[in-house]
Amino acid sequence: MIPLCDLKKQYSILRNDILEAIDFLCKDSAFINGKYLEKFEEEFTSSHNAKFGVGCANGTAALSIALEAIGIGRGDDVLLPSHTFVATAEAVCHVGATPIFCDIRPDDYTINIDDIKQKITPNTKAIIPVHIYGTPCDMGTIMGFAQENNLLIVEDCAQSHFAKYDDQHIGTFGNAAGFSFYPGKNVGAYGDAGFMFFKNADHAQIAQRLINHGRLDKFDHEIIGYNQRLDPIQAVILSIKLKHMHIWTKRRQEIASKYDEAFAKIGVKTITASSNKVGVYHVYNIEVSNRDNLRDVLKIEGIATGIHYPQPVHKMKPFLKYARSPLPITEAISPRILSLPIYPELTDKEQLKVIDFVLKSAKP
Ligand SMILES: *Cc1c(COP(=O)(O)O)cnc(C)c1O
Repeated sequence: MIPLCDLKKQYSILRNDILEAIDFLCKDSAFINGKYLEKFEEEFTSSHNAKFGVGCANGTAALSIALEAIGIGRGDDVLLPSHTFVATAEAVCHVGATPIFCDIRPDDYTINIDDIKQKITPNTKAIIPVHIYGTPCDMGTIMGFAQENNLLIVEDCAQSHFAKYDDQHIGTFGNAAGFSFYPGKNVGAYGDAGFMFFKNADHAQIAQRLINHGRLDKFDHEIIGYNQRLDPIQAVILSIKLKHMHIWTKRRQEIASKYDEAFAKIGVKTITASSNKVGVYHVYNIEVSNRDNLRDVLKIEGIATGIHYPQPVHKMKPFLKYARSPLPITEAISPRILSLPIYPELTDKEQLKVIDFVLKSAKP
């Protein structure tokens, strides 16, 4: 069986380091906040050349706390793609704002600036560009548009750790960014974890208070916050994984380019992004006309596949009321998309098997 993502293989490589680090932390009883967490916060922030970084409990909280910290709330409209994981839209609702769904680019599936221009109103306060599948959004154009129209930007980087646009790490363009360390993400914890970047020190400090009952020190409760802290046990695991990210990301890119080359021969559409975008392939997506049939064929051959995502968010029950207009590209690709196995530990032999069966059975 070739899984979509293999966390067990990776654990067998890291096991000694991880168990030792957890043992160390437990002997120290440093279970909440403290130096292990701060160490990881510094490491992750500097790894992306970001200004201010704050760890938090998961990627969904990262987005909603980032929105709240920069002042988005009731009465505000937030533009976001419908082609994303549901959490992006949930975060907007959690702060009391209204999600306004935009269409995507047909070539690389990121939010479409032409549709952003169609959807903006005087109520629009922010945009959430989602670097979906690990492909950067058009950050140059989006930041320019945001400046002209006085909009705030929160990047959804849940799938795009270490991706680059114009040689600059994603997550460092907007006023804020939210990352997920869900186990299957490119940087994955052994449970839930997340992270926020901010450009402005005051915003970072509000976020720091929000995740910890409104305080910075023990009884300094200045605002009403939450309990959304990053677990130090997860932080020490993430510190270990961070050391491998350069090689693991390269390996994902290498696998992706082998897939690209093979599928170009039969005209199957893959992610095609402009050369100033360096994607990190959290998902390797293809578009085919016989998606469900191809999925069955691959399953019989022991090859797992996924669909990211089976339903656009604006078609989901809780979000129907926010749908303003059809999103033709999002709706057209929805029945055609299929995700293939991609993870650093995938062997060349396994990949060749995937390629073989896709070439045999995929219909463009
Ligand atoms: C995973 C993900 C999230 C949510 O992260 P969690 O850590 O699972 O809460 C948000 N947005 C996108 C695009 C994601 O893929």
